[in-house]
Amino acid sequence: LIGLYGNELGLNVYVVGGFVRDLLLAINSKSNGTKSIPYDIDVVVEGDGLLFGKYVAKQLRAKYIEHPKFHTCSIFYRNGENKIIRIDIATARTEYYEEAGELPKVELSTIKKDLYRRDFSINAMAIKLNSGSFGILMDFFNCKKDLEEGRIRILYPLSFIEDPTRILRAIRFEQRFGFEIEPNTLTKLEEAVEKGYLEKVTGMRIREELEKILEEPEPMKAVKRMGKLKIIFHLFEKTYYSPTLEKDLEKLFDVKNYFKNNLPNYLNKVRVFHLVLDVLLQYTPEESLKKISERYGLPKDFIKNLKQVKNVYSEISKDLNNKEKILNLSYYYEKTNGFQNEQLIFLAVKLPEELLEKYYEYLRKIEKLKLSITGKDLLKKGYEGAQIKAKLEEIKKKLLNGEIQPGEEKNLI
Ligand code: ATP
Repeated sequence: LIGLYGNELGLNVYVVGGFVRDLLLAINSKSNGTKSIPYDIDVVVEGDGLLFGKYVAKQLRAKYIEHPKFHTCSIFYRNGENKIIRIDIATARTEYYEEAGELPKVELSTIKKDLYRRDFSINAMAIKLNSGSFGILMDFFNCKKDLEEGRIRILYPLSFIEDPTRILRAIRFEQRFGFEIEPNTLTKLEEAVEKGYLEKVTGMRIREELEKILEEPEPMKAVKRMGKLKIIFHLFEKTYYSPTLEKDLEKLFDVKNYFKNNLPNYLNKVRVFHLVLDVLLQYTPEESLKKISERYGLPKDFIKNLKQVKNVYSEISKDLNNKEKILNLSYYYEKTNGFQNEQLIFLAVKLPEELLEKYYEYLRKIEKLKLSITGKDLLKKGYEGAQIKAKLEEIKKKLLNGEIQPGEEKNLI
């Protein structure tokens, strides 16, 4: 239909980018594990994209949103299966009208230029949608071959310098598809990293790309590659990617999986990005932490919370030989009372294997723990202020340790 509307307005219309790539890979973007609904289709129009978008939205009775600053618009369309499809429409930016005399040639070079400005060859193909030429693949730069042979290749030498976020995108696509960044591209990538181009990008743009990496089905592959290529070091100053860090990061994803399957409520409001940074920045000096935290818009108590977990972890390390102490569930209550979910998960990463089962048991129990008496009951019995709090805590610990059973709380006051 989009092609038909193109014909009606006399404009060439193409679907481009990831959609074409996934189509050629025969990966339905619904089943590639990274996203389901709504799924995106990127369309490029040779001519006025906004005018075209408005026309399409009207014909399809779809929701239309304009982003005039970028000369793009989005249409949200509910298809026959009641799924929302998002169509992003962009204008191929060239001197289309000025050279209107040479229309056929310019038409070609317009979409060509648009594709040339893209990140990698695998993302730089288009399929024409106009009726009459529907389905023609526009492959100007040998892109299909790269896709078939599993290569990530930039289209021009200054690509990473022009937009260093492509460094992270290269890693993401390489690891997602099990492709390889081809040697010349890799050299250019390493040069851009080495010369500090990642440092020139705003923290928010880097963060967006990192979050996309973390949404991939196997993010550790990309993290390892970023570590090896010194990308981590250039993104987070004074943060050295070491085998110890790598082990902790691997453990983080196992732990997170455990929480997802067994303790899902603890994942409430937890952002994977913050968890990964907890692990990654655990040995980073304070001065650098401040800068990093500002750069990536981390929560204001991020550093404080990180330190708290580190302190608790080192206290626990000292108690490891005191079996009687560490096998009581109340021990974990004392150590982690008041912790946020993110801190509880980070601590699980740091705890030695032999304590993990106990710790999980504690988390399961405290989650469901409910006292059958309240502060009011204590007040009636003559307890005051701080005494009330202390008594309630004492009862809670006894319940956790199984020293009393639920319902027996009143016997203690
Ligand atoms: P995904 O499957 O992860 O959504 P995608 O290729 O659709 O992958 P988007 O980030 O949605 O990724 O980008 C859509 C298209 O826009 C890409 O295929 C690429 O052609 C182009 N693009 C996106 N970001 C850049 C960039 N930083 N530089 C150049 N081209 C880009």
